[in-house]
Amino acid sequence: MPDRYAVIGHPIAHSKSPFIHDLFAQATGQDMTYEAIDGGAAPGGFERAVQAFRAAGGRGLNVTLPFKLAALQLADEASADARLAGAANTLIFEGAHARAHNTDGIGLVRDIEHNLGTPLAGRRVLLLGAGGATRGVLLPIARAGAARIFIANRTADKAHALARELAPHLGGVALAGGGLDALAGAGAFDVVVNATSASLSGQAPAVPPSAFAPGALAYDMVYGQGLTPFLAAARAAGCARVADGLGMLVEQAAESFALWRGVRPDTRAVLARLAVPLD
Ligand code: NDP
Repeated sequence: MPDRYAVIGHPIAHSKSPFIHDLFAQATGQDMTYEAIDGGAAPGGFERAVQAFRAAGGRGLNVTLPFKLAALQLADEASADARLAGAANTLIFEGAHARAHNTDGIGLVRDIEHNLGTPLAGRRVLLLGAGGATRGVLLPIARAGAARIFIANRTADKAHALARELAPHLGGVALAGGGLDALAGAGAFDVVVNATSASLSGQAPAVPPSAFAPGALAYDMVYGQGLTPFLAAARAAGCARVADGLGMLVEQAAESFALWRGVRPDTRAVLARLAVPLD
């Protein structure tokens, strides 16, 4: 019997994860299946679906919106990334034991490094937004050796609060937060990540051209939206390197796959199958 894996979310019909993991399994010769499970909107639906999956011998799950917090809560043990993110996107089942991980942040770091063509170490990083996506990527970005991280958010208080809460956990990396208006005096950044959900409503957080250092990478965490208003504004500000979040999706999937199977698949081949030109 092949080992069983799945992604669980609500809605889930349009998830690319089964396609991605099927390609990983073929490329690495793993005997496994990977399906999509809809956890539904009813209270307790996620927990019941996970229980049924485990009872049927399921070995691991990817977890997506809106269940990432619930996934962390049902685990017996959690990685530092998942604990600090306050959310889990990967579950590993070993008998009665459930372990939670969060691979979103390391997925982002790997994709940024692919796009830069160099490690993130020593780079200045601007994160736009102070929601779950920003919280989830802070520790991996710090661990990758970023020289400085600034969190800028439409609601300044949330950026201040997040920076204050997480600074003690980032191993001495310079971390500060403020409103978008603080960017005018915040200097230039080598990597500017849009971790807001503004692109989903056709909007962009206001970023002054001075925030983009020469040769900077502008990165939008959303994918499937083409050239978003944020990426278009970055280009207009002279930023030649732009990327959307599809690579992050593929890289976080590869990290989950490696945790489950002990082998890391080639992500670039899979990304090439999925990618559509941004414009
Ligand atoms: P949250 O709802 O937790 O946070 C949303 C953030 O966006 C807040 O900081 C909010 O600011 C800000 N925001 C929303 N609209 C605007 C706007 N019009 N202008 C400026 N700021 C705005 O969302 P998440 O953090 O969970 O997710 C953010 C994005 O990241 C989503 O689009 C998600 O799809 C993407 N993502 C992609 C992943 C991938 O694999 N590629 C993985 C994880 C997330 P305020 O506080 O002022 O309301």
